[in-house]
Amino acid sequence: MYPAYRRVRKQIGAVERWFSQRKYTLSGVPYCINVELTNRCNLSCSYCPQPELVSSGQLKATDMDFELFQLLVNQVEDLQRGTRALDLASFTPVGLGEPLMYGELANALDT
Ligand code: SF4
Repeated sequence: MYPAYRRVRKQIGAVERWFSQRKYTLSGVPYCINVELTNRCNLSCSYCPQPELVSSGQLKATDMDFELFQLLVNQVEDLQRGTRALDLASFTPVGLGEPLMYGELANALDT
């Protein structure tokens, strides 16, 4: 596995441990939501673990079902209607893949 990916995972683990030691609860919706529409990619950036994860079989390259994406958007809208404290600042179609490879990208952005 990529050393940079291992370092990031280690840092994420430290953040998760930090949060797990405290009693935080979320109210309302998060400020930012990132949605991985696809984890497929046609590039091979040197710093990215995606190509190796896919070629080694640790990650199955696939797309999110568009119906699942619509369900997520509907749930976020429902949550936003139910909260006064937080406003969603961003809803970004990004993850461990190239969003432009998602066949329903135009429909997703219109949703
Ligand atoms: S997922 Fe993004 S960062 Fe990774 S190889 Fe593809 S384009 Fe590069």
